[in-house]
Amino acid sequence: APGQRFAQFQPDPAAKAAVHAADRAHVFHSWSAQGLIDPLPIAGAEGSYFWDYDGNRFLDFSSQLVNTNIGHQHPKVVAAIQEQAGRLCTLAPGFAVDVRAEAARLIAERTPGDLDKIFFTNAGAEAVEHAVRMARVHTGRPKVMSAYRSYHGATAAAINLTGDPRRWASDTGTAGVVRFWGPFLYRSHFHATTEAEECERALAHLEETILFEGPQSIAAIILETIVGTAGVLMPPAGYLAGVRAICDRYGIVFILDEVMAGFGRTGTWFAADLFDVTPDLLTFAKGVNSGYVPLGGVAISGAIAATFDQRPYPGGLTYSGHPLACASAVATINTMAEEGIVENAARIGADVLGPGLRELAERHPSIGEVRGAGVFWALDLVRDRETREPLVPYNATGADNQPMAEFAAACKKQGLWPFVNMNRTHVVPACTVTEAEAKDGLAALDEALNAADAHT
Ligand code: PMP
Repeated sequence: APGQRFAQFQPDPAAKAAVHAADRAHVFHSWSAQGLIDPLPIAGAEGSYFWDYDGNRFLDFSSQLVNTNIGHQHPKVVAAIQEQAGRLCTLAPGFAVDVRAEAARLIAERTPGDLDKIFFTNAGAEAVEHAVRMARVHTGRPKVMSAYRSYHGATAAAINLTGDPRRWASDTGTAGVVRFWGPFLYRSHFHATTEAEECERALAHLEETILFEGPQSIAAIILETIVGTAGVLMPPAGYLAGVRAICDRYGIVFILDEVMAGFGRTGTWFAADLFDVTPDLLTFAKGVNSGYVPLGGVAISGAIAATFDQRPYPGGLTYSGHPLACASAVATINTMAEEGIVENAARIGADVLGPGLRELAERHPSIGEVRGAGVFWALDLVRDRETREPLVPYNATGADNQPMAEFAAACKKQGLWPFVNMNRTHVVPACTVTEAEAKDGLAALDEALNAADAHT
């Protein structure tokens, strides 16, 4: 029964000390000053929760890195991985394999339009790398355009396309990347006051940028359907359709990055479904199998697939379509369909999280804006609602970041694990989150937000 594992868990200080010591001695952690972090040893996870060796249980409102859409340790997915491991662990990408073919079919069936061919990668950044390569070879053009407020991954091309300041230290400055401002009415770059104005001006800015760069040099525009890490920015009505029209006008490949937004997070299979838009290439990872085994990929349109019908696609990966990853994707997608998990995410968003977060915004002066859909929300925290000054400065580190660090600590004290990025806290539980869990999370946020209010 759910919750049973935690009920049976006994605090284990010796195990905690051993894990901590080995981690500190030998694990080099992502995005971190190694001497300034102290990673929490985790003993187990189930459903919407994980727990440490002292027996503190956390409601996972981060879904780790927004990937455990089906929750932790879903028994059907675990069983599928075990079954596949007993049958066939690995086979080169050149062979036809049952679980690989079935995963591709299930994904292609759900992606919009004619995105019917699937190239598998190990993660999101590799999906972006390959989508960009496909677009460059397909068009014979060199440049790719991306938005300043974006995150596309940490490999060579993906980090250059990323707008997030995490790019700065590893930006190679190579030619071929052109950045532009996407729409964001709350902090409009276009001095817009309505959504319609923001949309129109953002599209005009994009088209003007293309005309000055030279449309014949631009292979692709890549956008997150809903900008994720950089703040859960919902595109205004008409924006994505407008970008689609611009791409068609200039023969530019339209790439939608759904690594974070895809596979149920928005209460639809893909965020593109919310906006009725079909890209030429769609990148996915994370929710495709909730990250139980690393997996990502690119869904490819008929026209781009045709480019590589009689000439080889110049790229590949030893583990493309890895059987363990594909088996877990098949089980995840089938389980999400059978158990109505995407519908659950939509209902929790519409009935619990959306109204609950808006109600918190009425009482907490630190909440500048509430944005999102499904189980994909962010609170934009501010010092001052009038000026909209962010609670911490852009790219704050150390002492500057104290208000957000205090807010995050207050969440953890309430047993809530948040996803915090700059002045935002994302509210991103599993798509399987229950109404009771979502309400518990909102109550914990209510308490923790007092720490942010203290800085307004
Ligand atoms: N694209 C988007 C939109 C993402 O959110 C992420 C990861 N946060 C990536 C790409 C990169 O994915 P990965 O970390 O699996 O390489």
